[in-house]
Amino acid sequence: MEVIDKVKTRVYRFGNKKADGNSKMKNLLGGKGANLAEMSSIGIPVPPGFTITTEVCTEYNALGQEEVVALIKDEVEQAIDNIETLMGSTFGDIDNPLLVSVRSGARVSMPGMMDTVLNLGLNDEVVLGLAKKTNNEQFAWDSYRRFIQMYGGVVLGMKPASKEDIDPFEEIMEHLKHKRGITLDTEFTVQDLKDLVYDFKEAVKKRTGHDFPTDPWDQLWGAIIAVFNSWNGDRAVYYRTMHGYPADWGTAVNVQAMVYGNMGDNSGTGVCFTRDAGTGENVFNGEYLINAQGEDVVAGVRTPQQITKLGSQRWAELAKIEEEERAKDYPSLEELMPSIFEELNGYQDILEKHYRDMQDMEFTIQDGKLWILQTRNGKRTGAAMVKIAMDLLKEGMINEKEALLLIEPNKLDELLHPIFDPAALKRAHVMAQGLPASPGAATGKIVFFADEASKFKNSILVRIETSPEDLEGMNIAKGILTARGGMTSHAAVVARGMGKCCVSGAGALKINYKTRTLTVNGHEYHEGDWISLNGSTGNIFEGKVATMEPELSGEFAELMELASVYGKMNVRTNADTPKDAKVARSFGAQGIGLTRTEHMFFEVDRIKAMREMILADTVKGRKQALEELLPMQRSDFEGIFEAMQGLPVTIRLLDPPLHEFVPHQLTTQKELAEEMHISLQAVKNKVAELEEFNPMLGHRGCRLGNTYPEITEMQTRAIIEAALNLKEKGINCRPEIMIPLVGTVREFEAQEQIIRTTANTVFEEREDTVDYLVGTMIEVPRAALMADAIAERAEFFSFGTNDLTQMTFGYSRDDAGKFLPIYIDKGILKVDPFEVLDQEGVGQLVKLGTERGRSTKPDLKVGICGEHGGEPSSVEFCYNIGMDYVSCSPYRVPIARLVAAQAAIKAAQ
Ligand code: PEP
Ligand code: MG
Repeated sequence: MEVIDKVKTRVYRFGNKKADGNSKMKNLLGGKGANLAEMSSIGIPVPPGFTITTEVCTEYNALGQEEVVALIKDEVEQAIDNIETLMGSTFGDIDNPLLVSVRSGARVSMPGMMDTVLNLGLNDEVVLGLAKKTNNEQFAWDSYRRFIQMYGGVVLGMKPASKEDIDPFEEIMEHLKHKRGITLDTEFTVQDLKDLVYDFKEAVKKRTGHDFPTDPWDQLWGAIIAVFNSWNGDRAVYYRTMHGYPADWGTAVNVQAMVYGNMGDNSGTGVCFTRDAGTGENVFNGEYLINAQGEDVVAGVRTPQQITKLGSQRWAELAKIEEEERAKDYPSLEELMPSIFEELNGYQDILEKHYRDMQDMEFTIQDGKLWILQTRNGKRTGAAMVKIAMDLLKEGMINEKEALLLIEPNKLDELLHPIFDPAALKRAHVMAQGLPASPGAATGKIVFFADEASKFKNSILVRIETSPEDLEGMNIAKGILTARGGMTSHAAVVARGMGKCCVSGAGALKINYKTRTLTVNGHEYHEGDWISLNGSTGNIFEGKVATMEPELSGEFAELMELASVYGKMNVRTNADTPKDAKVARSFGAQGIGLTRTEHMFFEVDRIKAMREMILADTVKGRKQALEELLPMQRSDFEGIFEAMQGLPVTIRLLDPPLHEFVPHQLTTQKELAEEMHISLQAVKNKVAELEEFNPMLGHRGCRLGNTYPEITEMQTRAIIEAALNLKEKGINCRPEIMIPLVGTVREFEAQEQIIRTTANTVFEEREDTVDYLVGTMIEVPRAALMADAIAERAEFFSFGTNDLTQMTFGYSRDDAGKFLPIYIDKGILKVDPFEVLDQEGVGQLVKLGTERGRSTKPDLKVGICGEHGGEPSSVEFCYNIGMDYVSCSPYRVPIARLVAAQAAIKAAQ
């Protein structure tokens, strides 16, 4: 260690609207200490205190306790002296005691590193002073027993003796509750609290062999050293290692005066917001309680009152209280303590301007003096988020880039889908939890079969898993719930495309189709019972929870316009129908990045022809069936091209394994046999023949097109004819034909050849041509590795990161729901890789595939159409590796547009 500099400042004071430090000194003062200093120095009355620097922590680790205490003793004593002067009370004084809090504070927030010690400075005599000062014996003794409990746990190591034991103090409290026949902490009498204090101290002595420290100075030094030690405690070391924070950062120690809002009618406490967190309206608002502690405001025991007169009047209107009664019984702080209100109003203004964002503040009034305890950027609804950002921009407080960066992309979802009525949600009971597969809120009656979705006006389709056959029912239902399947399961992908609320992979659900029941934790629900889903959190609620339709505000449109100005990467959509395409365009999609053609085959008239094609044993038979499908496909494509009005449209050739199209239930198999005039056995044989052990790794994608070239021929013809038909109507569409699941160059070439030959034939027949591209999905790891060779022929790449994730991790898309939640729970995985692109692993293949592809063809168009194309961190990654576009479900288009703009802004910073 270097020579110790004995004269440098090790203790930074704050208080009395002054401070030695500021917010830029996070490395030295820790995040908390720097912010307290900042607030104090801009004139905010924070309870005075001081911060012992992070460097002292490092010195402590090198020199040990004795030397370090000697180094900082004078400074700490002077700093306490300063607090005493500012607070007009004395540390350890029996009549007018000063109590302090002690907290850790590293340069970055490290949740749970060390608990806080509050009310430090109490002992058997000081507690009497506090009782007198607050005129509240109950409060004083409760504070004292909490202090011993916190100090005992944090400083004196009073932890459970073994993992089977409970906290030793909790054990004593439980014992007393049992003896007294009470259940809540609040039911303790003053005598109970005194008994607890006695028993707690006895327990400390028994366990540690020492008396509980009564001298406030001993308490303070004990707490300071405990904070330093906590930096090398198991929790902190684990957290540091996980995040790669170096051990020599150290933690600061913050010591701050305690202030009390329960010292009589001239005291109080409250929470306030500089703008409305629900609507974003620029009105100062909040709640307060006279003669109360902070937790009373949130605990709901007493009804808090409104801070402003306007807020109070609005509240009274809702509560149907006459103005006269309101003013008398529920006065606002503005009316009751006008000068305090004015002061608070001034600070909210200063703080919002200083932090340039809506603030959520906590304050306490102690005996007529206002203290601001905390300020932070306030949490807000999606609607408020957009309004506040655009208002701050208009008010000149922030610039355009800052306004864009103020938006939390995923929160835009709230604006595009129904949400639960917050009041109804408060009363709702969560019956189970699944994956948040498709955002929004839905409430309805349970149906178990897709073809019964219209049985009730509002239904929730509950399935073990969904299949393409369920499409129509999924469209009718208000929401979809599945017991199996992950974030890229059929249900999840389709629901997101439809903008429909979906919770998938809720493993706790036991679904019995025969009895039409759903069992969760021993509770049985029947068809027709109401349930509600939150597709944004994965919560499943019992009963009906009222929902509200979203309304898109003018500010939303302004925000999106701004995103277009700064966004450099294009945003396309995954859309299979003209309706989806139109929705996406209204959100600003700049093309279609993926049309999955398989979904087009499930409508009643088509599925029949499709099945005939599959069941046909000869090429001729197959061609006949495909001829029936051709006009239908052509009109599908015409619809989509028309909706996109000349924007690029990527159409993917048939991808799923054929067994998905044949009936698996006996009744439908019989129907098919009759319709086709063949035996039931023949149908059964074909179904059995198509069965695969790993269909996702089986006969699908271009493997299908290469073994049944007639399918590729028919689809190409449909695409090219549709494009020519539209050309005649004056719409120049730009089809991009995409070959799925390519792994070798030859696979691509074989398909390309069929496509080009077919297109040329159509051009000759029609004596006209259209421009089109032939490209491929990169979704098999081998394709990413061979990208340079594939790019010699392919005109574009689109990364299918759903399959690429499946094959890179070796996790089945359909079954990963069985273990992924456990992996995430245990920290083996941080997030679901089907939801958030694994940049470290799968991302390498995406980056490498892009680079290799462009090494052969520098202007190769590259995009992504896996579900990650609408997930914020993945979209940013795509921008950073130079993709031309991302493609996502229609309702995620605004999110992707915003992230594209944010990514460009961040990259330029
Ligand atoms: C993919 O694999 O990422 C993809 C878009 O295709 P699908 O989800 O249809 O397999
Ligand atoms: Mg795929």
